[in-house]
Amino acid sequence: MRRRGFVFSVLAASAFPPISPAAGQTRLKVVASFSILGDMVREVGGERIELTVLVGPDQDAHAYQPTPADARAVAAARVLVVNGLGFEGWIDRLARSAPFRGSRVVASQGVADPLRMAQEAHEGQSTRRAQRPARAVPDPHCWQDLANGRLYVRNIAAGLSEADPANAAFYRERAAAYDQRLAALDIWVRQQIAIVPADKRKVITGHDAFGYFGRAYGVAFHAPTGISTDEEPSAREVAALIRLIRSERIKAIFIENMSNPRLVEQIARDAGGVVGPRLYVDALSRPGGPAGTYEAMFRHNVPALVAGMLRN
Ligand code: ZN
Repeated sequence: MRRRGFVFSVLAASAFPPISPAAGQTRLKVVASFSILGDMVREVGGERIELTVLVGPDQDAHAYQPTPADARAVAAARVLVVNGLGFEGWIDRLARSAPFRGSRVVASQGVADPLRMAQEAHEGQSTRRAQRPARAVPDPHCWQDLANGRLYVRNIAAGLSEADPANAAFYRERAAAYDQRLAALDIWVRQQIAIVPADKRKVITGHDAFGYFGRAYGVAFHAPTGISTDEEPSAREVAALIRLIRSERIKAIFIENMSNPRLVEQIARDAGGVVGPRLYVDALSRPGGPAGTYEAMFRHNVPALVAGMLRN
């Protein structure tokens, strides 16, 4: 029977049938682009929504290739929740081809003072990179600052409420309870980082995904790769990072859950360092794993970062 509802909405070219509380049975169909957003949407929407997450646990959203099943989910969705700021480079094409006819929620909308980073336009060959101009692109990893995570939740609640006014009070209530937990978690993160003396707050990660974390919580992050995992650093950039690790005696070196650890492992070896535990960066772990939710991600990453930095 669900199938018939889908066919109907395709034929009804303009809009989806309204969700009325009287009909009751229809849950709002929502698609979230990646696992971290998916967890936030689930926290707000609870059992009143039918959620599909495109880029799953331990998967790299930068390098993702949408599947036919993704296109079907997007075509059937009333709400599409994306991070924005260029994180999902594949989403516009997917939404066009599906096609998506609902409303899009950009979770990062309204982030105060988005970070920008120089990203060299290149063709994958490191020798050519120096000849090509750098351009400033926005850093999309806003969720690594819990203040931004709370903004994401507000945007998600507003988007769900607008698409499904009958359940607006339900979404707002759940978002408010979730926001209180995230506010408490933000205080806890600050307390944990405060354990580390300021001159030891230096960390090496796989790609530049911790800019917002660093700005919010006072930690300097360095990475061989830029804000997207699909860039390749030049030999010169890698050598500079190894010199930095040696001269600053950085012991806090981490691999990421959703990208290839080889480069960081090689750099750690060459610099005479040891790689610490895996950080959850652009994706959650599987449910029940060490970072199955957005909150669990901080509870896993922060103690690992603190222990690593205390060795610096
Ligand atoms: Zn990333």
